[in-house]
Amino acid sequence: MSEEPDLEALRREVREWIPKNVPANWRERQAGDNIEGFLECQREWLAKLVEAGYATPHWEHEWPGGGRSLPEQVVIFEEMARGDAPRMSLFFVSLYHAAMTLQECGSQAQKEKYLPGILRGDVWVQGFSEPGAGSDLASLKTRAVLDGDHYVVNGQKIWSTLGHFADHCLLLVRTDPDAKKQAGITFLLMDMKTPGIDVRPIKQITGDEEFAEMFLDNVRIPVANRVGEENKGWGVAQVTLSSERGLTLVELVERLYGSLWRLLEAATKGGFAAEALDVEDRRRIVDITARVEALRAMVGEAMVRKAAGNEQLGDASILKLAYARILRDFCELGMKLEGIGSQRFENFVLGAGYETSNWMFDFMNSYQWNIAGGSNEIQRNIVSERMLELPRG
Ligand SMILES: Cc1cc2nc3c(=O)[nH]c(=O)nc-3n(C[C@H](O)[C@H](O)[C@H](O)COP(=O)(O)OP(=O)(O)OC[C@H]3O[C@@H](n4cnc5c(N)ncnc54)[C@H](O)[C@@H]3O)c2cc1C
Repeated sequence: MSEEPDLEALRREVREWIPKNVPANWRERQAGDNIEGFLECQREWLAKLVEAGYATPHWEHEWPGGGRSLPEQVVIFEEMARGDAPRMSLFFVSLYHAAMTLQECGSQAQKEKYLPGILRGDVWVQGFSEPGAGSDLASLKTRAVLDGDHYVVNGQKIWSTLGHFADHCLLLVRTDPDAKKQAGITFLLMDMKTPGIDVRPIKQITGDEEFAEMFLDNVRIPVANRVGEENKGWGVAQVTLSSERGLTLVELVERLYGSLWRLLEAATKGGFAAEALDVEDRRRIVDITARVEALRAMVGEAMVRKAAGNEQLGDASILKLAYARILRDFCELGMKLEGIGSQRFENFVLGAGYETSNWMFDFMNSYQWNIAGGSNEIQRNIVSERMLELPRG
């Protein structure tokens, strides 16, 4: 009989470990346009997490830190958020999307080749979306043609998060243009140093360059880098897309909860003593607090259901819709309370989360949650069609 993990003991262990190991001054080191500082700090943090086993609780047993249950993974994410540890921004795709795809669908040779590199800090990017294929991903057009023991790839990818720092890419390509959309797609692993790849960072409204577009011109990728069979890449991509299992929201909602005090800080900066706030502002602060508390409870419940194998269709969509709206309202209220000072644009932190106290920056940044991982409209379609069984519009 397998022993139940002692979650409280793990919680205490992680809680004690964090303050001793979080890179000193990480917010300052990851701030502004100090990209080198961001990369260095993230690498230092990954090395510490890997050593302690906290970077890979979701990996298979044989890997260091691997084989933890979902509730244990939730505890680690919660404690990282509560301890205000840096997010794993640079390595999230590597540790989750790439690692889970390789572990579930990769060949033994691919696992041996790539997984140790992820533990050492290789950066992976997800090359799925294209200018004409986002919500309708299966309509992607990047073409791969077999030439001996290589695929020759031509096309364009977009919105590739941190693509300009990546060593490897999870790439979806079309290998059979005549088959039904999903049926003609193949999943490849692309070394970003291969000739023919042009990566161009995209500047966002915040001034950050978190995304890139990738132009592929006769890029030769070995057949040995194909994951699964030719034209069966759609199934592999579903594994990639479900790899983080809702843990991102556990962490983000916990960070938001831990940031509620920033609303009072904003009011103080805006020149109000907390007791001098007008009734309407007090009501707004209470309203956001209640909504964050409710969302936290909903995320907790969803994780319990997931761990028990009883996940409800639409769970993830409802939580993401709620988070996107609450985050935006939280940032908007912070701006209002701080007033003109909130419009300054300094000291923003790449990948720090969405609660940096630079309210204008956070507000603009929050809009990405209306789109990333499936837009609000797509989430509503999922809830209405699959959960409520309403007719398709
Ligand atoms: C923060 C962030 C990170 C991302 N990271 C990556 C990454 O690393 N790799 C990657 O490949 N991609 C990434 N993406 C891209 C993301 O997957 C797409 O932006 C998303 O799927 C939407 O696609 P689109 O931008 O092409 O918009 P479109 O699909 O063109 O949608 C445009 C509008 O039409 C609406 N719409 C579309 N279809 C429907 C429908 N059937 N019913 C109702 N409304 C509809 C949408 O809701 C939206 O408002 C990222 C995006 C964001 C915001």
